[in-house]
Amino acid sequence: MLEVRNLCKTYRPKRGVPVKAIDRISLSLPETGMVFLLGKSGSGKSTLLNLLGGLDRYDSGDILVGGMSTGAFRQVHFDSYRNTYVGFIFQEYNLLDEFTVGANIALAIELQGRRAEDAEINEILREVDLVGYGNRRTNELSGGQKQRVAIARALVKKPKIIMADEPSGALDENTGRAVFETLKKLSAERLVVVVSHDREFAETYGDRIIELADGRVIDDRVVEELEETEVATALTYTEEGVEIPADYQLTEEDRLAINEYLRARQGGKLTVKGTAGARRFVPAQNTEKTEAEPKSSVGNTSPDKGFHLIKSRLPLRSAFRIGASALGYKKVRLVFTILLSVVAFILFGLSDTIASYDHVRTATNSIMDTEVRYASFAKTVKNYDYYNSGYNMTEAELAEVREKTGLPLVAVYNTQRNLSFSMQYNTESEGIKDLGLQLRATRFTNFAEITEDSMRQMGYDLVAGRIPDGSKDEIAISDYIYETFRLGGYAPFGTSDYTEIKTEADMLGKTLSLGGTEYEIVGVYDTHFDFDRYAILREDMSELPTADTLTYFIMMSEYNYEIEYGFASVAYTGEGFLEHYMEKNPHRPSFRGDIWFGGKGLEESDVVMDVWVDTVIPYSEELPENAVFFEEGKTTLQKGEIVVPLTAVNVWDYKGEHGYTTEEIIEYIRANPEINLQGWSEDNELFNISYRIVGYIEFPEGEWTEADQRDANLLYCADEDFGFLTNDHGLYAYAVAPMPTTRADVEKLVELSITTDKDYRFELQNGVCYELSMVSELLAVLGDVFLWIGIGFAVFAALLFSNFIATSVAYKKQEIGILRAIGSRSNDVFRIFFSEAFIIALISFAISAVGTGLIAALINAGLRESTGLLITILGFGIRQIALILAISVGVAFLASFLPVRRIAAKRPIDAIRDR
Ligand code: ADP
Ligand code: MG
Repeated sequence: MLEVRNLCKTYRPKRGVPVKAIDRISLSLPETGMVFLLGKSGSGKSTLLNLLGGLDRYDSGDILVGGMSTGAFRQVHFDSYRNTYVGFIFQEYNLLDEFTVGANIALAIELQGRRAEDAEINEILREVDLVGYGNRRTNELSGGQKQRVAIARALVKKPKIIMADEPSGALDENTGRAVFETLKKLSAERLVVVVSHDREFAETYGDRIIELADGRVIDDRVVEELEETEVATALTYTEEGVEIPADYQLTEEDRLAINEYLRARQGGKLTVKGTAGARRFVPAQNTEKTEAEPKSSVGNTSPDKGFHLIKSRLPLRSAFRIGASALGYKKVRLVFTILLSVVAFILFGLSDTIASYDHVRTATNSIMDTEVRYASFAKTVKNYDYYNSGYNMTEAELAEVREKTGLPLVAVYNTQRNLSFSMQYNTESEGIKDLGLQLRATRFTNFAEITEDSMRQMGYDLVAGRIPDGSKDEIAISDYIYETFRLGGYAPFGTSDYTEIKTEADMLGKTLSLGGTEYEIVGVYDTHFDFDRYAILREDMSELPTADTLTYFIMMSEYNYEIEYGFASVAYTGEGFLEHYMEKNPHRPSFRGDIWFGGKGLEESDVVMDVWVDTVIPYSEELPENAVFFEEGKTTLQKGEIVVPLTAVNVWDYKGEHGYTTEEIIEYIRANPEINLQGWSEDNELFNISYRIVGYIEFPEGEWTEADQRDANLLYCADEDFGFLTNDHGLYAYAVAPMPTTRADVEKLVELSITTDKDYRFELQNGVCYELSMVSELLAVLGDVFLWIGIGFAVFAALLFSNFIATSVAYKKQEIGILRAIGSRSNDVFRIFFSEAFIIALISFAISAVGTGLIAALINAGLRESTGLLITILGFGIRQIALILAISVGVAFLASFLPVRRIAAKRPIDAIRDR
C-alpha cells in the first residue's frame, strides 16, 4: 500500500542549525496489519508519520501510494489523498470541541461528499464502544473516550490506512491498552501505522516494529507467530529478574523457587516481567518489495485500479455551523465589532443619503412630505445660465404647459393693479388683531376666470351663492378672503359702518372697491385653506423665542408663496370677464427684466443715476397731465428719447455719500439727460445704448390715486423703441391646479419644472421649490464632501471586519489544521470563515439598514419640526440599503479571504501545531 524510497526531510529552523529529521529511509508497508514506529523522543517518528500522511512535505525521495508516486502531488492532492485514504489519530485527540460526538463524525463523512446518516454514525460508535454518546459534547468525555471518538472519526471514512501518533500518550495505561486493542482489531482489514516510544506496547500489539534513531531505521522486525510448543510454559530466571509468561498461574513450587532466587540476590530487587507470550520478532524482509517503476498519479486519468482521490467538499451547512459556533467564543469582541460596524455603516448610509443628493427626488419627497396642495406654474426665461422669473404666459404658452403637465390648470391673469380691500374691514377689531399682520387678507393678488368645471376639478366647493357672471363686475371669493371679513366685519367702501359677518352667505351682495371699480360678491368657495398650518404667523415675530424665528421665516416664505402663486387669494370672475376688463384697463407688457437704465457716470464723476421701472408705454398713448418736457413745445418722442417718472429716478453722490432730492434730481437730469441702457450681450459683454431723458412725470405730495401708483412704475418711450424695451406680452402671471397625489405624478412635474431644453420653461412655484433652489447648490457640494466621508466610514467598517476575522482565524488555526488533517481543502476552510463573516455582515447590515432609515427619518422629521424646513434633506431609499448590503457582504468576503489564504498556504501540520 505504502512505499517509501530514500526519503529525506531536513528541518531548517529560522534560528539554530538544520535538523535532519528523516535520513534516507526506505520502507515498504503492507496492506493490512499494525506497524509500529518505535524510537526515542526526537528520533523522527512523528515526522515520518506526517510525511506518510501528507501533512508535511518531504525534501527528496518518494512516497508511493498504491504504486503512485506522490512526487508531483500538490497540497490539494495530499488533501484529497488524506480525505480518501487516511484516518488520522492524534495524541491530543484533535476533536472539534464545539461539536457533539456525532457531529464530529458526521463532518468526516460529509467531507467525503456523502450524506451522514444516523444509522452509520451509530454503527461506528458501536465499533468503538461508545453507543449512546452521539449527542454528548466532546469536552464532556474522558481522554479515552475522546480518543475513541477520534478513532471513530478516522474509521468512518473507511480508510485504507489509519495513522496514529502516540494515541495513548495522554492516557493512563489501561485506557491506552483499550485504544491499542481497538486499533489492533481494526488492523485486520487495513494498515494501521502507530507511532510510539513504548516498546512493550509495540511488542504486544505490533505486527511489525520499525525502530528509528536520528532519522534512520535502525531495526525493522516482523512478528513471527510461534507454534504452540514453542511457547514458554515455565518461569525464566535471568540477570534482571523473573519472566512470567502471560496467562501463567503461579504454583507453590514457583513460590519456593522465587524465594530461593531472592535469597541468592542479597539486597537486590525482584523485577517481574510478563512476556509477550506467543510472539517473537524476526528481521523484516524489505528486499521482497517490488521495484517496479512508480507511476505518476497527477494528471493521470486512469490510475491504478481502485486508486482515486475524493476532493473534499464541506457542505455549506456544516461550514455555517462551525462559523456560527465560532462567534460564541468571543462575544465581547463580536458585540463591539458589530456595534462599531453598525455605527460606521449608518454613518456611511447617512453620508450617502446626502452624497446621492438628487434634485428631482428631493423636491418630490419634499413636496409629498410637506403636503403642498397646489401645483402652480409660472414662466421663467433663460438669461445665460439662469432662468429668471417675472414673465407672463401667453395663451399659447398656457396651452403648452397644460399639455405638458396634463393638469387642468386655471390661468391667473396678471392684473398689474393693486386690488386692495383693506379699507373695508375693521383692522382695529379684536378678531383681526388676533389673526396678526401676516395672515389677514388685504388684497386680491389677481383675477382669474372660473367655470363650474374648473372649480370642480380644483376640488373647491361653492359654499354660498353662485358662480359669477363674466359680463358683469361680479366676483366670488375664497374661504381665505372670507375669514378676514368674518373676523373684521364689512363696511362699504369709504365708510366705517361695519356689519358683522357670521356666515359665508352674509358676504353675498356686498361690494368691494378694487382699483376704483365696485365688484359685487356673488359666491364663496371653500379652498380648504389651512390656517392652522401657518399658526405661527399669528404671533408677533419680535416676541418669539429666537429658536422659533427661523420657523417663522420659513413658514412666512411658504405662506407668501401660497398667496402669490396659489388660488386662495385670487378674485374669481365669470367667463368672458377679462375681455371687457382689459378694454377699460389695457394690459401693459412689462419692461425687459434683463436690461436696465443706469450705471453711467461713475468713470467720469462721482455721481451716478439709474432708473427702475416695471412697465414701458409707447408715446402713441397719451402722456399723463403731470408730464413735463424740458424742451418747450415738444410733443413727440424720437427714437432714443424717454420720459421718466421722478419716483423711479435715483441719483447718488458717491463722494458726498448722499442721494439727491427731487429738486436736485430735476436739476441733474436737465443738465445730464444722457443715460445708458445696459445689458449683457450674447457674447457675455456688457453693452451700453445711450438714451436721452427729455421729460419727467411729477407726483403730488400726500395721498396717491390709483392712477398715480400705476404711473410711478412706467416709462414712456418712442413707438420705435417699444418692441425692444419690452419682451413680455403674455397675460397670465401663472396657472394653478391641485397638486397630484401620487409620487410618480409629482416627480413628473418636478422634472418638467427643471427641464432646460428651451430658453424658457415653466417652473413650479411653492415654498419647497424656493427653499430647494436656495440650498440645492449647497447640498450638491455637501454631497461631494459626504461621498468621501462615507467612503471613509466604509473603509473603517471593512478594517474592523477583517480585523475580527483575522483574529478569529488566529484562534482557529488549530481547528483549521484538524480539518485539514481529516482531509478538507483550504477552500472548505474559506467557507467556514466566510460563513462566520457573513453572519456578522448580515447582522450588521440588518441593524444598519434599519438604523439608517430610522435616523434619516428622525433627522428629516426633526429638521421639519424644529425649523419648519419644507424640504426633506436626507433621501434614504433602496440605494442605501443595497449599498450597505453590498459593502458588508463584500467586506465579509475579503476579510475572510485574505487571512484564510495565508493559512491555506501553510502545511496542515503547521496549522495543527499552531505555527
Ligand atoms: P519524534 O516524533 O520521534 O519525537 P520528531 O519527528 O517530532 O520526533 O522530530 C525529529 C527531529 O526533528 C527532532 O530533532 C525535532 O527536534 C526535529 N523537529 C521536529 N519538528 C520540527 C520543526 N517543525 N522544526 C524544526 N525541527 C523539528
Ligand atoms: Mg513525536
